[in-house]
Amino acid sequence: MLGFTQQRKFIYEQHVTGPWQRLRKATFTVLHLILFVTPWVVIRGNPALLIDLPRRRLYALGAIFTAADTIFLLLLLLFLAFSLFFFTSLFGRLWCGFACPQTVFLDSWIRPLEEWIEGDWVRRRKRDEAGWSLDRTWRKALKWGLFIGIAVVVAMTFGSYFAGARELWSGQGSHLEYSIVAIFSAVWFLDLAWFREQFCNYLCPYARLQSALTDAETVLVQYETGRGEPRGGEAAKAEGRCIECNKCVFVCPQGIDIRQGFQLECIACARCIDACDIVMEKLGHRTLITWSAMAEVTGARTRRVRPRTLIYGGLLGGIAAAALVLMAARAPFDATVQRAPGSLFTMDADGFVRNTYLLRVTNKEAAAAPVPFHVTVEGLDDAEVIVQDIALGSTESRTVPLIIRVKARPDLPRTIPIEVRVTSPQRSVEINATFKTEGHIGTALR
Ligand code: SF4
Ligand code: SF4
Repeated sequence: MLGFTQQRKFIYEQHVTGPWQRLRKATFTVLHLILFVTPWVVIRGNPALLIDLPRRRLYALGAIFTAADTIFLLLLLLFLAFSLFFFTSLFGRLWCGFACPQTVFLDSWIRPLEEWIEGDWVRRRKRDEAGWSLDRTWRKALKWGLFIGIAVVVAMTFGSYFAGARELWSGQGSHLEYSIVAIFSAVWFLDLAWFREQFCNYLCPYARLQSALTDAETVLVQYETGRGEPRGGEAAKAEGRCIECNKCVFVCPQGIDIRQGFQLECIACARCIDACDIVMEKLGHRTLITWSAMAEVTGARTRRVRPRTLIYGGLLGGIAAAALVLMAARAPFDATVQRAPGSLFTMDADGFVRNTYLLRVTNKEAAAAPVPFHVTVEGLDDAEVIVQDIALGSTESRTVPLIIRVKARPDLPRTIPIEVRVTSPQRSVEINATFKTEGHIGTALR
């Protein structure tokens, strides 16, 4: 492999078809549908998925999460991380070959367009090696122009998850949002048009974790040495050994030879499996490159269920259970109480002790009709609670003064623990606070 200090060796991969490529195409179609349709879907008046960073809100499948729900974000990140660990320990880099956005866009749009405009892999290489000409220039200009268009569409789509699809595509986004989209478009263009496999080989952190996440029992794309070697020679065709046609190397988008054993550069795209399948089928044999565990190739016993998969699976189950329990207990609104700045308490002319707080309520329900909230106080006998009516629409927040008064008596302690209860038609939220007085020892705190 060539490093940054050496000259880039461009890869001209040969086109290949086969059952694994058909399965990948079907997967890509589903992923495209999810990616491009989701930002436009509305559930109960809100986007199906929107990460509203300025307002610190997440809209997901009809639920609205605020900064107070950060625990769910943490659980989601943990779940995604352990899912990656779990599936990698079972099937290696399945993500890279079947679901990574770079792979999906390269194989769905970029490579087919390249082949359509510049011809097959042999023509492309010959034209590039011949140097600049009018023929090469117009083809490159057309190709890069289309790549820029694709990069902009992809960046706008990703941006729709943060700025809202309708706002962004109708030109109602902010200058900052369009600036970020422009930067992402440039990054996508450079990656899809030029950087490609170098991203996997030099920058992707997931690729670096492979050796730690896989073992001899992980199912990977492997060359079956036992059936394939010794390769070449007249008898190879009849015996089903490797005939050294190199088709598996020609189709590889990473420019590696899988016959040299498992390599970190392999993205599990299975192109070499289909390529070898075509060759060996004509000779009446099975493909020499298969999905198999390293231990299987050497004839050793392999297990799908092993300590590593059990630990990852158990952690995944635990995280999912915790998320479900927390979701069931989650209130459809947030409420906080803070003491109003200024004084701990005041003495009213009618002989009442007054404490003033600021009550903030955020309605997280997606329902269109405003939700009324009722406020009561526990822990203070004969307390007078003064607060204005609160009715909030979906995602609306309001901060209102909350005044609690109680008749001054000599037996009142200086600090009384109280519970402010905010109740909606569905649930109630209790907030612990304190009520301050002058106290029976008569110390003035004002
Ligand atoms: S070795 Fe095979 S599976 Fe791995 S990247 Fe190359 S073509 Fe894809
Ligand atoms: S495609 Fe199969 S037969 Fe041809 S070189 Fe690769 S492993 Fe050998």
